[in-house]
Amino acid sequence: MTKRVEKSDHEWKSELTPAEYRIIREKGTEPPFTGEYCDTKDPGVYRCRACGTPLFSSNTKYESGSGWPSFYEPLVADNVRENEDRSHHMRRTEVLCTVCDAHLGHVFPDGPNPTGLRYCINSASLELDQDMSPGPGSGQGNGD
Ligand code: FE
Repeated sequence: MTKRVEKSDHEWKSELTPAEYRIIREKGTEPPFTGEYCDTKDPGVYRCRACGTPLFSSNTKYESGSGWPSFYEPLVADNVRENEDRSHHMRRTEVLCTVCDAHLGHVFPDGPNPTGLRYCINSASLELDQDMSPGPGSGQGNGD
């Protein structure tokens, strides 16, 4: 079981930039094609920017054309959780960090093989750790 990270709004505000806070704690969305990792192809592991939990491998990042970093599966399934999101007159599936409840983005059923999923994630919610191995191949065994 992963350890929980719980902090007050005051603590999050002091640790995150205003833009990060708006996205991570207030479920905001960065404008498309503006995020730090939109076009990044460097190998490594994308951690939660708020708590450091490993979330996505560069091996599963792909060019979706959406304007946000896109992955076809999480690095460790238990490290992300899903939540039904009915805001903005849409029915979407929100993706959050299991450990600290950071808003990451949404998952859509229009991704590539092998999962058919597109994890559409805000750069502001991620931090690329290039010292951590992205793991072998497609990260099989962690997805559904
Ligand atoms: Fe987190």
